[in-house]
Amino acid sequence: MAGKKREIQLQTVINSQTLWEEMLQNKGLTVIDVYQAWCGPCKAMQTLFRKLKNELNEDEILHFVVAEVDNIVALQAFKDKCEPVFLFSLNGKIVAKVTGANAPLVNKNIITLISDERKIIAGEMIRPQYQEVLLADSDSEDAGELIYDSVEQYSIAIIKPDVVITGKVIELKEKIISAGFVIEAETGTIFTEEEVRDVYSDIADQPDFEDFVSFMTSGLSYIVVISQGDEEEAENPNLDEYGEIFENESEVEVKRASIESKAKRDSLQEYLERQHISQFCDVEGNVEKVNRLIDIFFPDFRNKKELKLEKILVLLRPDILQHRKEDVLKVIQNEGFKILMERQLVLSEVEARTLCKRFEDEDYYGTLIGNMTRGPSLALVLLRSQGLKHWKELVGPISVEEAQEGFSDWLCAKFAMDSLPICQLHGSDSLEAAEREIQLLFPPQNTLAMIKPHVTPKEREEILKLIKENGFEMIQAKYMIMNEESAEKIYSKIKGRDFYKSLLDMLAEGPSLVMMLRKWNAILDWRRLMGPVDPIEAKLLSPDSIRAVYGRSILKNIVHGSSSLMEAQDTISKIFNEFVTEHPEEN
Ligand code: ADP
Ligand code: MG
Repeated sequence: MAGKKREIQLQTVINSQTLWEEMLQNKGLTVIDVYQAWCGPCKAMQTLFRKLKNELNEDEILHFVVAEVDNIVALQAFKDKCEPVFLFSLNGKIVAKVTGANAPLVNKNIITLISDERKIIAGEMIRPQYQEVLLADSDSEDAGELIYDSVEQYSIAIIKPDVVITGKVIELKEKIISAGFVIEAETGTIFTEEEVRDVYSDIADQPDFEDFVSFMTSGLSYIVVISQGDEEEAENPNLDEYGEIFENESEVEVKRASIESKAKRDSLQEYLERQHISQFCDVEGNVEKVNRLIDIFFPDFRNKKELKLEKILVLLRPDILQHRKEDVLKVIQNEGFKILMERQLVLSEVEARTLCKRFEDEDYYGTLIGNMTRGPSLALVLLRSQGLKHWKELVGPISVEEAQEGFSDWLCAKFAMDSLPICQLHGSDSLEAAEREIQLLFPPQNTLAMIKPHVTPKEREEILKLIKENGFEMIQAKYMIMNEESAEKIYSKIKGRDFYKSLLDMLAEGPSLVMMLRKWNAILDWRRLMGPVDPIEAKLLSPDSIRAVYGRSILKNIVHGSSSLMEAQDTISKIFNEFVTEHPEEN
């Protein structure tokens, strides 16, 4: 009895998903012995744990638990594995997995993590970022070692209005990507005066600064957050002179981070110079300034990185959509997914084949494609912290048979139907696949939008903010005082109307901001956001719309938007393409 009691004191028993989630709240390190009910926890390792507990004497930041696979959803991938598994959870993130009773490695991981934790608490060290171990994939071979995620440092490239208007943004981005850099975030934005003064405060005393402010606020700039991707893939990573320092693992983290940041910044700037494209954009690598720019233009960026907010595509195939739609949507909601876009559609054969490429060699492939093209499916773009991993854990194995043998709560088992031997829900298999699938089922569309004269600068800013909040990407923008000729490019359809002359006079009274906006369903969504043509009617029918809130009259109704795909294509090419041809691509 005495022996048994000591055991329980050493390792807390975790035997439900709720207790598992509570355990993830533990401060510091939790060493988890993952065991199968039929064979019990690993006795051999308990001596080591007891020794470490005594020696380290860190009850606040060192915890030992035993977790029973059968009762914990998060551990289902370990079901029926006969080797013992030890997981190391650091403040709720699993940072290492040791398979087998490898006492030296378990010992090393505990000592490393606890001594780091002590230094972090004492303020002697910045928290190292370890790679997270994915539990969904129990067969992945990892050596059980702690693996550092590289310390992310970002550079920002600002492509200014004179370059954006020439249509060079795509080409510049492609060059940056093909050199092995990663675009972490990007946005088109029209700088406000305040933002220019803030971002460029270091050059404010230069004599032509006021001209610079007018230039920067005159049109669309493009801001791109860049990190150095996988160094081996980079065309010319240019890290040689720092090589020696990188190899010395005992360097303290702070120093490593600052050296890495310098190396990255230099390599991006130098790369752009080598490619003769540095004159087309400014590269900002100063950590403080980069952080400031990220705060202003990408307020969600850090959150996204820290929470690993991930977008995936989920498709309810026809049968499940018809019979269990509400149940599925409830699960999606309860599991904390946000639905960013949704669309009911009958998949074309090409679409179904593209989504199901990974099943091409299975004997049920034909049935699957037939099933998926037979009736409407519901496509959803879902967002959640660690969305991909969480979705995979929820669904379980893709084969109904395997899922049913395992765990009845797995969505594959729970929503199984006779019509298919695989899960009735399609989910993206990787983040790359997610991006491709979202492009496939939610293809972006362009529309021409315009903010007419008679708005105050403050109102214009508010409208630009609304555009961003509603998920539109701004691809092009410029201010124009519309004369008869340019107005006709947009309004040729209504030339014969009795109010046309007053429309021309109104447009000539001041600069309009013309924009090319992009998102899925952009034309309709922008018209919905504008509201009905007459602000009086808009106030009644659509009180939150732009025309309802800002419109002065049916003539001065503040915004314009294309009405159809044809109109959008025609006006965009008339308003923006001329600029592209005026400045032929330089190679
Ligand atoms: P929308 O802008 O919603 O596409 P129309 O294409 O019918 O609407 O009209 C183009 C623009 O002409 C309107 O946005 C508005 O500025 C102006 N307009 C439309 N109808 C009238 C009217 N009855 N009186 C004065 N101006 C009008
Ligand atoms: Mg119109």
